[in-house]
Amino acid sequence: MSNLPIKVLVPLLPSTHQIEPYFRKIDVTRTYSNFGPLATEFAKRLGKLAGAASVTLTSNGTSAIEIALRLKALPGRKLCVMPSFTFVASAHAVCNGGLTPVFVDIDPVSLVLTPEIVERVLPQLPEQPAAVLVISAFGAPIDQQVWAQFQSRTGIPVVFDAAAAISALSNVGNLPVCVSLHATKVLGIGEGGAILNSDAEFEQRATAMTGFGFMGMERMSAIRGGNYRISEYAAAVGLAALDVLPAKIEMLRNVALAYRTRLEATERRARLQAGAGDWVTMSLNIIVESEDVEATLARLDAQEIQWRHWWGLGCHRHPAFADCPSFGLEVTDKLAPTVIGVPCHDGLSDDDLDRIVACFPQRNYNDSTSSFADELSEQEVTAL
Ligand SMILES: *Cc1c(COP(=O)(O)O)cnc(C)c1O
Repeated sequence: MSNLPIKVLVPLLPSTHQIEPYFRKIDVTRTYSNFGPLATEFAKRLGKLAGAASVTLTSNGTSAIEIALRLKALPGRKLCVMPSFTFVASAHAVCNGGLTPVFVDIDPVSLVLTPEIVERVLPQLPEQPAAVLVISAFGAPIDQQVWAQFQSRTGIPVVFDAAAAISALSNVGNLPVCVSLHATKVLGIGEGGAILNSDAEFEQRATAMTGFGFMGMERMSAIRGGNYRISEYAAAVGLAALDVLPAKIEMLRNVALAYRTRLEATERRARLQAGAGDWVTMSLNIIVESEDVEATLARLDAQEIQWRHWWGLGCHRHPAFADCPSFGLEVTDKLAPTVIGVPCHDGLSDDDLDRIVACFPQRNYNDSTSSFADELSEQEVTAL
């Protein structure tokens, strides 16, 4: 068996053949942008998929976050509390929305922000924040309820960056949920995004912001915005992408479950991100112990198996955001290097999966420094 290099991500969008029927509609309508019939139909179907009554389509996920924050941020305030552990796009969106990121830590198990973390930081801030940006970890479901309670308790608006989580959403409520439709996301259309919500008035304002703030009166800017719309061509790809979405979800679920099975069967000292396989993602992660990171990455490199630290080591490590305030990033600093993005696409054979999983460390029951050993019950230890 020759060991060919294995790519970490291979995007999969609908084929030209699948898109063509929608393109033909554009030939007939001769509407190419400005909330045309295909964009309208796409928004409707997207809302149905995520259980959201209101949908605003945007040019990408980053602009969705920017618009939601611009509408929700409390006037007169400048800070936006957000986890450092996210894709750096989240921090760009916060800054473009006129706010300053305040980087805080994450929960070590769920890898996301919790209301407890934010409420611990609030008294230490020089001033109260304008908003909180909550991230979905690589497409994991978000807890809308616990954050709705946080918002009513504190009066601080919450916006979700659920960029990769479109297929993990249901019953979208009043807090804006921003998603990305980038080619590397589960529902990829090339470039695109959306703000999902259940508040018709918010939707009206957000949608107006994507088209120069025109609202109510003909060609009058009622609200500041810009051009963040998607073309009818992009919407055509979106409609075709929705047609083939169930098959893509099934493929991604099978890849995640294949990893899960192998990690367990071969007793690796490594785990999939919690719940992966129950929900799906294009950026699947295997999490290892800190002391195993270096050797694991060296084995993957030696095998020419591509891997990624999809979110790097946190936004606070990027020069562009080095001057933003941060509070207690111990968990982020420890965990970020241990979250390893592994190959996840439709081109992986059983042999490929075996080869990838074999790069991860074996459990060692005699190794008292490993946390897996710590977790062994007394009974198991005496039986050894
Ligand atoms: C992909 C992603 C974004 C950016 O979305 P774009 O459509 O590329 O602008 C923002 N936040 C997170 C967490 C992402 O994964």
